[in-house]
Amino acid sequence: MARFEISLDIPDINIKKVDTTKKGDRILTVVSTVEGTHCHKCGRAITNHYGHGGPIKLRHLSILGMKTYIRICPTRYQCTHCAGKPVTTQTLNWYDPRSPHTKEYEEHIMLEMVNSTVVDVSIKEALGYKAVMGIIHRHIDTEVSWKDIERLDVVGLDEISLKKGHKDFVTIVTARIDEQTKILAVLKGRKKETVKEFLSSIPKRLKKTVNAVCSDMYDGYVNAATEVFGKDVIIVVDRFHVAKLYRKDLDGLRKKEMKRLEKELSEKEYKKLNGVMWILRKNMKELTDEELKILKRLFRHSPILEIAYKLCNELTDIFEDDISKSVATRRINDWKKQVKESGLKCFNRFLSTLDKYWDKIVNYFINRQTSGFVEGMNNKIKVIKRRCYGILNVKHLFQRIYLDLEGYSLYV
Ligand SMILES: [Zn+2]
Repeated sequence: MARFEISLDIPDINIKKVDTTKKGDRILTVVSTVEGTHCHKCGRAITNHYGHGGPIKLRHLSILGMKTYIRICPTRYQCTHCAGKPVTTQTLNWYDPRSPHTKEYEEHIMLEMVNSTVVDVSIKEALGYKAVMGIIHRHIDTEVSWKDIERLDVVGLDEISLKKGHKDFVTIVTARIDEQTKILAVLKGRKKETVKEFLSSIPKRLKKTVNAVCSDMYDGYVNAATEVFGKDVIIVVDRFHVAKLYRKDLDGLRKKEMKRLEKELSEKEYKKLNGVMWILRKNMKELTDEELKILKRLFRHSPILEIAYKLCNELTDIFEDDISKSVATRRINDWKKQVKESGLKCFNRFLSTLDKYWDKIVNYFINRQTSGFVEGMNNKIKVIKRRCYGILNVKHLFQRIYLDLEGYSLYV
């Protein structure tokens, strides 16, 4: 049989023997090459041998697909300085006495967990669900560690519901720093007081670095941010939430018009309008020739839908254009006039929201970097939720978002 040697790459040990169990697991029995330890009472260096502790078996990285364990009987040392001559068990750098795995193995599991699920990793590694959870808990805090953050720039406030259709909301607080999104908190509910309490807990030195708060159109968030940060911080209503609202109004009109056309058109002609819901929701620039044809046919039957559709696209274009706040203000005011002159009623609700949050919506044009990441983050969380059948614990959700965001830079 061809043979080769591999180095175990673990410091401070010698391998005494290698066994293979009936199941095919490999067990490497090792001894420490480090002399002495520090007394757990007085902290002095001690070298007085006091036998060995019982064997511990630590899961390590697989070798050629075989489960591998490292077995060690830790050396014990007695302190001659302290009263009662206490005994201290030596520990080595490559394992944590609280864990049944080597540190290297735990880091490997953390990397496996990025964009994956506990169940999935547990099956692939033949490692219990609780063991995987234990590793996550040992490696990731359940809340943000402020000392690791230098500045905040843009803070994002957004809500998601944990269960589809349920009013079971959590608030996601993020920061956008150098094009990177950091998770700051997952808060239960979306009450103003909860959000305010968290924002107030941001250390002073970091509060000073916040330039803008990008939020959902929700009074609780907007007021919490205003009360904590005051006038110096710009509050921006996320443009994607704005777009969602006018798109929803267009969708409402589409439903009404389709009902009308279903009655008025022949079955054959009506069928030709199949798929218009998706076509209307798509970006116009991405439509195929076939889709454009269907759209034209639809507009022939429903001129008001064409007007509404064009108005929506015009508003999106304003948000896409690189313009100043004052130009944007003028153009959106013109847009409002157009809507009123068109006689369309479908945007009434949107128009009143637009008035209510006017300043905060046009604040977007001060600093365009503030958009997008909240929504991008939201999609990421939706994926985590889908992957993990809805994580209902806010602390665990925080850990998983953190791991997906930072995992590759931490464990590769
Ligand atoms: Zn001592």
